Amino acid sequence: MNERNVTTLPLEETGGRLTLDGGALAANYAALAARAAPAECAAVVKGDAYGLGLEPAAARLWQAGARTFFVALPIEGRRLRAVLPEATIYVLNGLFAGAEPVYLAQKLRPVLGSVEEIERWSAFCRGRAGPLPAAIHVDTGMNRLGLAPTDAIGLADRRDELAFPVALILSHLACADEPSHPLTMRQLEDFRAIVALFPGVPASLANSAGTLGDPALHFDLVRPGIALYGGRARADVSALRPVVRLELRIVQLRDVHEGEPVGYGAAQTARRHTRIAVLSAGYADGLPRLAGSSDLRRGAAVMIAGRRCPLIGRISMDLITVDVTDVPADEVQAGDFATALGAGIGVDDWARHAETIGYEVLTSLGRRYHRVWHD
Ligand SMILES: *Cc1c(COP(=O)(O)O)cnc(C)c1O
Repeated sequence: MNERNVTTLPLEETGGRLTLDGGALAANYAALAARAAPAECAAVVKGDAYGLGLEPAAARLWQAGARTFFVALPIEGRRLRAVLPEATIYVLNGLFAGAEPVYLAQKLRPVLGSVEEIERWSAFCRGRAGPLPAAIHVDTGMNRLGLAPTDAIGLADRRDELAFPVALILSHLACADEPSHPLTMRQLEDFRAIVALFPGVPASLANSAGTLGDPALHFDLVRPGIALYGGRARADVSALRPVVRLELRIVQLRDVHEGEPVGYGAAQTARRHTRIAVLSAGYADGLPRLAGSSDLRRGAAVMIAGRRCPLIGRISMDLITVDVTDVPADEVQAGDFATALGAGIGVDDWARHAETIGYEVLTSLGRRYHRVWHD
């Protein structure tokens, strides 16, 4: 397995250990593929495989059986191609002007999302490149990327004039994480009508939430991302197996008298004689600052010696402080590690405290941890 882009920093020089569970990643892929069958299950690996690391994650997904991959950018496609010479790779954000030769050289398929992009790809293929497959993205109500349905109808009428094969017709669900949202049914109906205009062309609509939802959303290919990596995709379905475990170094223990403040802004005051563990990671490592704690608002928590220890005070750039008063003194020492992800604490717990989503917590995971894959 080619992992030349993975540099593992020495644990003793870092503030934490990020352990990535290859077995859980493969199991999550298998679960989603079984759920999607007979549709094909692709893997979305944009955003550095949601922060896990593009190359090691993609190599394991390939081993688990994934053959079609989605990235956001041509530069991600180039990195992916270097480790997966045989994979089908789609670039979701479209056809970047000037990068056409990269799509050709790296065998990347653009997901064409506007009439202008379709014409530019067609012209490129009519020239020296030859007929290179691409996907067409049709917008069905998200109003982000993709052709307006009327443009898709126009395109279907003149499909014979295109100088490239349409390998996939795709749309994206805006609200699949909320099972009863009316927009999902409307998008499904509109997408069905579009798909009917392109007979013989495989179709794809479902993200993770759609893959875990109504099989009517599956079409020929599903595109899960977050669920592969152990994040929660739907409000009504718990996450698959967690893939990421994060342990943070305890650099110091100290005692704070009742009534004394902790951390920047003196945002939280000790309500009792409090024992504090200072951990060597902060918002520079992707721990969302909003998940800190104050007198007004409780923050996230970590696990130490099997006990839940709430954050106390704000999250600094490189440090957080947690309340370990209830941990027996002989069970916590400087040099030990606290579990910030794992032991029942997930990315969605941090996200809830930070008014964000697990996706953002994952993709923000720091680059200065000791990172190891465990298979
Ligand atoms: C990110 C993305 C996905 C994957 O979404 P998840 O919610 O992570 O499963 C699928 N399709 C498109 C177009 C995307 O941008």
